[in-house]
Amino acid sequence: MNLNTIVEVKRPTSTDEIGQWRDSYAWLAGGTWLFSEPQVATDTLIDLEHLGWPALTASAAGLEIAATCRIVDLHAFKGPAEWRAVPLFGDCINAFLMSFKIWNAATVGGNICMSLPAGAMISLTAALEGICTLWPRDGKPRDVTVVDFVTANHANVLARGELLRSIRLPAAALAKRYAMRQVSLTHLGRSAALIIGTVGDKGQDFLLTVTAATPRPVQLRFNKTPSAAELRQAIDDRLPADGYFQDVHGSAAYKRHLTYYLSEQIRAELT
Ligand SMILES: Cc1cc2nc3c(=O)[nH]c(=O)nc-3n(C[C@H](O)[C@H](O)[C@H](O)COP(=O)(O)OP(=O)(O)OC[C@H]3O[C@@H](n4cnc5c(N)ncnc54)[C@H](O)[C@@H]3O)c2cc1C
Repeated sequence: MNLNTIVEVKRPTSTDEIGQWRDSYAWLAGGTWLFSEPQVATDTLIDLEHLGWPALTASAAGLEIAATCRIVDLHAFKGPAEWRAVPLFGDCINAFLMSFKIWNAATVGGNICMSLPAGAMISLTAALEGICTLWPRDGKPRDVTVVDFVTANHANVLARGELLRSIRLPAAALAKRYAMRQVSLTHLGRSAALIIGTVGDKGQDFLLTVTAATPRPVQLRFNKTPSAAELRQAIDDRLPADGYFQDVHGSAAYKRHLTYYLSEQIRAELT
């Protein structure tokens, strides 16, 4: 849609060009959400595209995903054979309720900054133990894990004007085996639950990441693959009945049921 409150679009090649931050500024990534509804409090968009960040940088340490990396580019990524979790990129992308426009224009950072419970890029990068690098307006860059970045439905730790620069996925997490389950109430609908388990080769370092069913990502970590009873107990200890996210895509009780059911399937598959 046309945003008739916008009077300027800045296209900086460096964030130093922006100067003093104003509350009526907004970072523009793919624009798929920004242009989907009126932005009455915004008069200036700051386009991130001309900052020219490389979309994907692989190294022995892992994969750095620029916040501006488009979904379509992440989908095309082929990692080294030892990064066994790379197919999870496509699995999560396909879990996204998505139009042609979102597929080609939306960015990984835009999805994470939206901080919606069903944000599939949050599910992916949280499960692969991603670390966000944030650029505050004043001050040094700071790191926050993806799981701590999202604080509630559509809320996160970004301070006023702060920019998400990149997400680093450690090589050790990319090398783990994984299993994923996703359920929507309707065909191609928004996820009611998107749950991912990862585990090391010898059954060590089992990590379960629950998303979409909860307002923010919830992670359960075990030194070794838990038994069914241990997993169920850990879910109950961490997630009370009112800890689930209730919306038109599913009641809290339904999402709780899905969390038990899908988590056990993941545990069994990875055992
Ligand atoms: C039809 C439709 C269906 C959708 N379905 C889903 C769904 O199933 N699951 C889901 O998660 N989402 C869904 N969305 C929302 C989707 O998450 C967003 O449209 C998309 O992820 C936003 O990415 P973008 O790059 O286009 O961001 P933009 O629209 O450009 O920006 C989104 C917000 O993030 C801020 N932002 C962007 N990048 C940064 C950055 N690097 N640092 C700081 N702030 C930044 C912007 O200022 C803005 O507030 C849907 C949207 C539509 C229109």
